Amino acid sequence: MIELDAKTLAMMEEIRSLGRTHIRPMGLEADRTATAPPVDHEFYLICTRQGGLVSKMIGADEGPTALDWKPVRNFLIGEECAYWDRGVALSLPGPGLGGPALRNTGTPEQRQRFLSIFEDHSKARWGAMAMTEPEAGSDVARIKTRARKDGDEWVLNGQKMFCSNSARADWVVVWATMDPALGRSGHRAFVVERGTPGFQIIKVEHKMGSRGYETASFVLEDCHIPADNLLGGEAFYEAKKGFKASMATFNMTRPLHTAHGVGMGRAAHDFALDFVRNEYPAQGRRRQRALERLARIRRGLHTARLMYLNAVWLAKNGQSNAMEASYAKMYSPPVILEAVSAALDILGEAGVRNDKMLEKLYRDVKILDIGEGTQQVQRHVVARQMLKFPMD
Ligand SMILES: Cc1cc2nc3c(=O)[nH]c(=O)nc-3n(C[C@H](O)[C@H](O)[C@H](O)COP(=O)(O)OP(=O)(O)OC[C@H]3O[C@@H](n4cnc5c(N)ncnc54)[C@H](O)[C@@H]3O)c2cc1C
Repeated sequence: MIELDAKTLAMMEEIRSLGRTHIRPMGLEADRTATAPPVDHEFYLICTRQGGLVSKMIGADEGPTALDWKPVRNFLIGEECAYWDRGVALSLPGPGLGGPALRNTGTPEQRQRFLSIFEDHSKARWGAMAMTEPEAGSDVARIKTRARKDGDEWVLNGQKMFCSNSARADWVVVWATMDPALGRSGHRAFVVERGTPGFQIIKVEHKMGSRGYETASFVLEDCHIPADNLLGGEAFYEAKKGFKASMATFNMTRPLHTAHGVGMGRAAHDFALDFVRNEYPAQGRRRQRALERLARIRRGLHTARLMYLNAVWLAKNGQSNAMEASYAKMYSPPVILEAVSAALDILGEAGVRNDKMLEKLYRDVKILDIGEGTQQVQRHVVARQMLKFPMD
């Protein structure tokens, strides 16, 4: 049983209200036009002006620069935002996936420099994190973007793709390698700021779903960045912590992905439940069959929620959560896909019309299985951990 404090309950209520008035309508509009809301959309300004609210959504309890950024509340809020629209939830101003990377790896000076910009509530700002490349998706160890030291600068060359919010970001955490032959120990993370010569967005993807946020490809061509923008500083990597740091980032973003999935699954479940209530008010075979299927889905969503909460709780308490983060990430996609699929079945022809949200949710949900590692990749992570820690 999770006990939510008054502050969390008040925030959830606020999200519900914004969900109805802004988040869902913006998501539907983005889906219809296949374009994410513009950077100066009034909702982003509302969120930014309220500051506190966005800080919570982006994962810092005491403000964006705080180190204690893993309270359970933030994940529940992520779930609630995704209930209304996951694409828009991901487009909200803040450091995005770059936040966990900075907090895990950055020095206090770097955290202050790059995260404190989100404390300026006069303007919406974004951060991003780029790992994926044309030849390195699931197997992140194969990244080829090169980093070379040149005096008191680093020079980056390479291409990144499918990077969320990078086209509007103030900075992007870019994972690169000193030399692909060094394998994982060659990995380094750099902060590339907007406007740096050589950093160029080349394409904003046309996605099948989750169109409320932008995903873009960019190139780095002789991109010179200050030596200080190497996350953690050089000493950090002497201890071969580079790859571990990127994996630690995923151990927090995977539970967040699961939280989003649970929110989307709940949305589908609620559509179907409302339909059953309205269309089959009396006891009967169709009502019984639908409710039996929905009960199984509810159990699955509840289990997925407990899984992501468990992974967060472990991290919050300083314990390893790699396995638990992957359990949650690999368990949830089929459950959530089934939630949307069942809702479509139950609504029948009403469900496939695009004014009902469900056909959009169906497209949105499929994408969820890919980002942060597919189910197959999660099984690899668990298998590697299993060999280290046999079950007692
Ligand atoms: C909407 C969206 C947003 C994204 N945002 C970001 C972002 O902000 N930053 C970022 O860095 N990346 C981002 N990504 C990229 C995402 O992390 C990758 O797409 C993902 O890691 C999978 O990589 P891939 O697409 O290259 O697939 P591949 O790695 O080519 O995999 C293709 C298929 O092969 C399977 N497979 C691969 N290896 C194995 C194996 N060893 N055993 C069994 N099966 C295997 C996979 O499970 C998958 O089904 C985003 C992707 C999407 C779709």
